[in-house]
Amino acid sequence: MKYIDEFRDGALARRLAAAIAREARPSRGYALMEFCGGHTHAISRYGINDLLPANVRMIHGPGCPVCVLPIGRIDNAIELAGPPGPILCTYADVMRVPASKGMSLMKAKARGADIRMVYSCADAIRLAREHSEREVVFFAIGFETTTPPTAVAIKEAAALGLSNFSVFCNHVLTPAAIANILESPEVREFGTLPLDGFIGPAHVSTVIGSQPYEYFAEEYQRPVVIAGFEPLDVMQAILMLVRQLNDGRAEVENEFTRAVTREGNVKAKTLVAEVFELRRSFEWRGLGEVPYSALRIKERYRAFDAEARYGIGYRSVPDNRACECGAILRGVKKPTDCKVFGTVCTPENPIGSCMVSSEGACAAHYTYGRFRDVAIIGRSAAPFAAVAE
Ligand code: SF4
Repeated sequence: MKYIDEFRDGALARRLAAAIAREARPSRGYALMEFCGGHTHAISRYGINDLLPANVRMIHGPGCPVCVLPIGRIDNAIELAGPPGPILCTYADVMRVPASKGMSLMKAKARGADIRMVYSCADAIRLAREHSEREVVFFAIGFETTTPPTAVAIKEAAALGLSNFSVFCNHVLTPAAIANILESPEVREFGTLPLDGFIGPAHVSTVIGSQPYEYFAEEYQRPVVIAGFEPLDVMQAILMLVRQLNDGRAEVENEFTRAVTREGNVKAKTLVAEVFELRRSFEWRGLGEVPYSALRIKERYRAFDAEARYGIGYRSVPDNRACECGAILRGVKKPTDCKVFGTVCTPENPIGSCMVSSEGACAAHYTYGRFRDVAIIGRSAAPFAAVAE
């Protein structure tokens, strides 16, 4: 398949691995964060870590949209869905994210709430048109990639005069999260999280372009290489980062030139700016409250804002005490550092959000890498006690 097969070529991967091994200097380490869950998935699926020399280390970042959604927001959606309540629509992965008191949207659905899985917000618009007697709410989540379609849906609802449609907006922004990580005590104060460079998002960057990362490269002196989600994209980006670090450069480079430009998708950005505005602050799982890191619906489209329509108030809820998702999303811990990884917590029974989506670090690690981790072999019943609260 064009643009897929040629980026999964094993012989080329081995040549790139040899180049990385040749150029990575044994005298230093290279701690590189892949921001996106798509890259985390590719790294686990294709065993990229196994191809790297020991001094080149990949650190998972917070770029999985389902993973960073805090429990309080899922609780909001469950409460809203009732019953009685509107038809609540959302993406499949969101339905499995653990909420508080052992609940999830999936369990709320089993208890009678009318919660429906959709492939896009256009499906939610269709439901609103087909059920004019019911209220329909789209539970919108995701980074800059999924924001433009939500903007399109809101504009379409306005054009159609759909008074029974609204959006519970939880869209978040990538640059604010990267800044938060770079400003974190682990990076700046204690130095416990060495971070030498970033692999920049693929899909997000097709929308926002490469320009927003120039600030990080310059201000924090960390190189950024935007890369596609195929294994050779990731390998090439690692080589480009190694070269920048060897040269003492901190620039934004674009490996994903087949889809990303400096400006990004101007039409999509204009659309988003028309419908959404910045929130002053938003809670992320793992990162806590991050200033100006999320969007809300502008006053002009307030009629389609579920938060205003239903008076949704946010309440922060702590994660399950056994779950290390917060530390994993900050890059401070690995999935196998969690006591319940692969025992109590599995993709079939996720305890934390990182085990839900295939882009989550724990799910990716469990699916593709767990048998290489001697650490979990021989675990006893202790993890089951750890999760009980
Ligand atoms: S293994 Fe499960 S409980 Fe542990 S950090 Fe990952 S998602 Fe959270």
